[in-house]
Amino acid sequence: NSFMELNLSRPLLRACETLGYTKPTPIQAACIPLALTGRDICGSAITGSGKTAAFALPTLERLLFRPKNRPAIRVLILTPTRELAVQVHSMIEKIAQFTDIRCCLIVGGLSTKMQETALRSMPDIVVATPGRMIDHLRNSLSIDLDDLAVLILDEADRLLELGFNTEIHELVRLCPKRRQTMLFSATLTEEIDELIKLSLTRPLRLSA
Ligand code: AMP
Repeated sequence: NSFMELNLSRPLLRACETLGYTKPTPIQAACIPLALTGRDICGSAITGSGKTAAFALPTLERLLFRPKNRPAIRVLILTPTRELAVQVHSMIEKIAQFTDIRCCLIVGGLSTKMQETALRSMPDIVVATPGRMIDHLRNSLSIDLDDLAVLILDEADRLLELGFNTEIHELVRLCPKRRQTMLFSATLTEEIDELIKLSLTRPLRLSA
């Protein structure tokens, strides 16, 4: 029961060690091996369970083997609030500290111009709130999700509670059909089930 057994590369194991993570939390132990296979995953997990690293570690592992000659946005992580986006972004930067993977934060309340420059530089990962991400995709021809490999919907129940249903549908439509999707939610309601049907393919269900 250690990170070593999870088939993660050296730079990621080193980051876990630096962060003081000695063993995976239950959601990490369950999620990481499955996510590494590329299957879609829906997990019921609350904040505090270690869910951020549960989706970030396998996603970063896959990114280590991306084609380096063709920079593109390969991972989109959608969160319901700016605060959560900031937390997820900061966690990813920590886990990616020994890699060349770049992550950018796209939320309301920050300069649109600076965010547009960040997006045009083709970060590997974008952590965003839905409204602001859509604004960028609508307003800039050079920003698209055509090379996206992984879509993550974090705190999906709150995304729906806050009324982001239409935005999420629009963003899912802009992603390639062939991709890995992971959805996390504290509760699994009927609305979440609808969203799962719309955005995930034969998902594996986890709870922790
Ligand atoms: P989260 O549920 O993703 O919001 O994470 C909650 C807290 O647990 C964060 O402060 C993480 O840094 C911490 N954490 C995540 N995974 C581990 C782990 N395997 N061992 C110890 N702490 C962890």
